[in-house]
Amino acid sequence: MELKGRSIIGWADGAEGGAQFSAINPATGKEIAPKYSSASFSDIDCAANLAAKAFADYSRRSAKQRAAFLREIGKGIDAIIGDIIERMIAETGLTEARARVEAGRTSNQMRMFADIIEEGSWVTAHIDRGDPGRKPQPKPDLRSMWRPLGPVVVFGASNFPLAYSVAGGDTASAFAAGNPVIVKAHPAHPGTGELVAQVIRTSARACEMPEGVFSILFDGGMEVGASLVKHPLVKAVGFTGSQRGGRALMDLAAARPEPIPVYAEMGSTNPVFILPGAMKLRAGEIAAGLHASVTLGGGQFCTKPGLVFASAGEETKNFAKDVAQRISASAPHPLLTPGIRSAYDNAVATRQRRSETPLAASGTAPAAGLDVSAAFFETDARTFVSDDNLSSEVFGPSTLLVSAGSRDEMLKIARGLHGHLTATIHGTPEDLAEYRDLVEILESKAGRVIFNGFPTGVEVTSAMVHGGPYPATSDGRSTAVGAQAIHRFARLISFQNFPDQALPLELQNENPLKIWRSVDGNLTRESIAAAHAAV
Ligand code: NAP
Repeated sequence: MELKGRSIIGWADGAEGGAQFSAINPATGKEIAPKYSSASFSDIDCAANLAAKAFADYSRRSAKQRAAFLREIGKGIDAIIGDIIERMIAETGLTEARARVEAGRTSNQMRMFADIIEEGSWVTAHIDRGDPGRKPQPKPDLRSMWRPLGPVVVFGASNFPLAYSVAGGDTASAFAAGNPVIVKAHPAHPGTGELVAQVIRTSARACEMPEGVFSILFDGGMEVGASLVKHPLVKAVGFTGSQRGGRALMDLAAARPEPIPVYAEMGSTNPVFILPGAMKLRAGEIAAGLHASVTLGGGQFCTKPGLVFASAGEETKNFAKDVAQRISASAPHPLLTPGIRSAYDNAVATRQRRSETPLAASGTAPAAGLDVSAAFFETDARTFVSDDNLSSEVFGPSTLLVSAGSRDEMLKIARGLHGHLTATIHGTPEDLAEYRDLVEILESKAGRVIFNGFPTGVEVTSAMVHGGPYPATSDGRSTAVGAQAIHRFARLISFQNFPDQALPLELQNENPLKIWRSVDGNLTRESIAAAHAAV
């Protein structure tokens, strides 16, 4: 498939011109053709107007039609998977194995959301029938469900060029709920983004979707993203990236005359607590698992365990030696962009300069391109609680082991943590009984609490929560992965005393879609007449 280096706005290609930029191959440090033209303000306005117009049509399409569109995208991605993977590897330095897993996840996500909307119960229909004879006042008939929001802007993530980018989880869930999407492509992998965008445009035409249901805008800087968030026709934003970037977009959205929700998934250090019983029994196994999780994909996962807490003592010292040996033997790995590499190098150098956070081990020296070495630091609890910088995310293959002098010190550390995507406990049943309060504390700090495992590897299922209290995300009530992500791009609406035929199908008496609904508090798939007869 030919790459044009231009934005896609509805059915048309954007104009050539504007500031140009190219992807860089992290393995070699060299530019990759073609050059990409940054979108202009008129491109932004055109994409937003087309999306707003498309919303009126697309949001009323049946679930079956929207599901067919999602499946077509999944099929289209699978059909050119070879081209996509080749370009993704060149633009990211990630391995082929990783690229294949991510590609499969991306098209499967499309199919998962197609299944969800075809089944239909995601709209959470509630029907509370009226009672005109109620005294002293008649009771109104009320029926509620989730409906789409309007045009959604999705920021592609640097570290997931497929599964969190152009056709990633945000786009799939926004489309599924009934919203048009405008993607602001990540400048690190524009070619991968364009290939996927061409698939979406072709799929939209093949499924006779309205023009403007999808656009993608390129930009080497930040202006296009900021302008999209401020555009009055945009109704929500999905973002994955740094705390600084996410916070800037949240503030822009809040300062609009009409503030809009920003679902930002930002930095997380994913604390791991190794309790004494587990350290005694399984130190070697935990060291091997931790090393694999920290270095996976060059440590460029939002779920990478960047903080490890254990009780001070001989066993923890031996555990630290084991981790250090494994880190020392780690091969260098290229990071995604020059900016991400220099952020990593600076963070590692800052820690290394402090005598209280000694570098216990570093991996094999960088060989080429944007390579970095893995880094393993150690410190004690007193140093950790006195320096907030030690809690910050270091994006890349690095982790910090903190030794706590007592159970109380361990709990104090846990209470002081800010919000994370995940928190992990390694323990035995006896440990869990002794540290019951740790589980309660971590539940208030993370979106997912893991027992005897590692946080990397995020399953895409109904029960997955990939979220967490601020600053891990902008809204800890939501998830960016899994079936429940669809509710981020929808809002509840209630219809009062509406004639049956004027209601959406999901709320009509007959229940023609046969979805699960709550009728007067009882969960049923029956029609109203049948549900009433059964009571
Ligand atoms: P980023 O700097 O947050 O950028 C992500 C996207 O948002 C890019 O398209 C960027 O545009 C845009 N953006 C950032 N700030 C903006 C602003 N103020 N206004 C408008 N648009 C803005 O993330 P990154 O480039 O992927 O990596 C940088 C750092 O982010 C990493 O070192 C790491 O710390 C963190 N990160 C975390 C995760 C995670 O899941 N926790 C994932 C990826 C990155 P430009 O590229 O044009 O600046």
